[in-house]
Amino acid sequence: MFKKILIANRGEIALRIIRACKELGVKTVAVYSESDSDSLPVRIADEAICIGPAPAQDSYLNIPRVLSAAEITGSEAIHPGYGFLAESSEFAEACESCKLVFIGPNPEVIRLMGDKVEARAKMKQAGVPVLPGSDEEVGSIKEAKSIAAGIGYPVIFKAAAGGGGKGMRIVKNEKDLETGYRMSQAEAKATFGDPRVYLEKYLEKTRHIEVQILSDKEGKTIHLGERECSIQRRHQKLIEECPSPIVDEDLRQKLGEWAIRGAEAINYVNAGTVEFLTDDNKNFYFIEMNTRIQVEHPVTEIVTRTDIVKAQILIAAGGNLISALGGIDKSFIFEELREIHALECRINAEDTEQDFMPTPGKITNLHLPGGNGVRVDSHIYLGYTIPPYYDSMIGKVIVWDITREGVIARMERALNETVIEGVKTTIPFHLKVLRNKKFRNGDINTELLETVTE
Ligand code: ADP
Repeated sequence: MFKKILIANRGEIALRIIRACKELGVKTVAVYSESDSDSLPVRIADEAICIGPAPAQDSYLNIPRVLSAAEITGSEAIHPGYGFLAESSEFAEACESCKLVFIGPNPEVIRLMGDKVEARAKMKQAGVPVLPGSDEEVGSIKEAKSIAAGIGYPVIFKAAAGGGGKGMRIVKNEKDLETGYRMSQAEAKATFGDPRVYLEKYLEKTRHIEVQILSDKEGKTIHLGERECSIQRRHQKLIEECPSPIVDEDLRQKLGEWAIRGAEAINYVNAGTVEFLTDDNKNFYFIEMNTRIQVEHPVTEIVTRTDIVKAQILIAAGGNLISALGGIDKSFIFEELREIHALECRINAEDTEQDFMPTPGKITNLHLPGGNGVRVDSHIYLGYTIPPYYDSMIGKVIVWDITREGVIARMERALNETVIEGVKTTIPFHLKVLRNKKFRNGDINTELLETVTE
């Protein structure tokens, strides 16, 4: 087992990883930017080291600085969390060449799945259904026209190097195809430095359902069931739940088998997520694979009674799946899965009445919820100042109960009890969604929030 791990991240996920390390008896090193010097991960880690000024390019995204911090502190492994360097194959490779264990899959797999065109091709080859679309990057408007005519409108242009909902353009008819193509390319180039885009059939009012997998170095992969992540705003998740209200045991096994097949086809190691969209007839199609821990992992942890972050560390240290999951063979857990339901709301410091504009600033009054069936993953504290430089998520409230109905009531109770003053948050918006009839009935899709105004 590792003696010391460096956490190349900040905020709630840095704290989440430090907590896992502490339970494993592993020393922790937090790295931080100048604007995060009084953050909770810095206070709670065994050691903390400043890696540069506030802009992420000069600190959390700066590979030489992160690696120097690891070297100076004698760390053996690096956990990248999500975002920042988590899906940088260059970083994973640099770790390897510095004899540091990168807690995640190998650089080649990160690169392969990071290229969504290649990922689609690889999954198709492995027998996993993918959305109809282009087999390669779209090279010209002529090509785009012929592919779109073949799959039928609406279609969506997506960035090959995409992430965070950037570079996507929905096109409803041929007349708008050229503009969509150019805009998608321009945004892809500006955001990712890579202008390549591809085409997919656009599924209206679709559901986003993803499968959590875990693979060890011995080549064994298991799945930990699905997460329903259809409550999104501008293609970014806001509320997630496990299990999905529309997935039954047969479907779960089918999705799980596809996810495992996909992971095995690329010799995947560590935790990963295989994402699917579904059409009205419950046909599922692969859209992408995330090669890291996800924001929404806690709902799976609760339902499957696992600790995915600990499992990531144990697998990276060479442990097999059974030891990584605390000595329990989890392949039979799914009988238990339907007995518990978990829901997560992402709390962002944003003004939902001002187009979700970020509201950084000082927290002047704070009460976080507790009680039966409530977990809060958050790095905020009374007097903490949310810096303006990073993502606006300040925490996650996760609740569970034996029914979906019970879990919604519990989330309403937990959010109503929460007090965060000094900055605006997404809590009032979450409460509206929780009261929405369609949401309550499980009749949800990725466009539902556009109609939630009450
Ligand atoms: P990113 O990596 O940028 O987050 P994804 O491919 O994971 O992009 O898609 C994010 C979200 O965008 C999906 O959950 C869904 O809401 C929407 N989306 C992506 N592709 C499609 C599609 N082909 N049809 C309908 N919605 C899509």
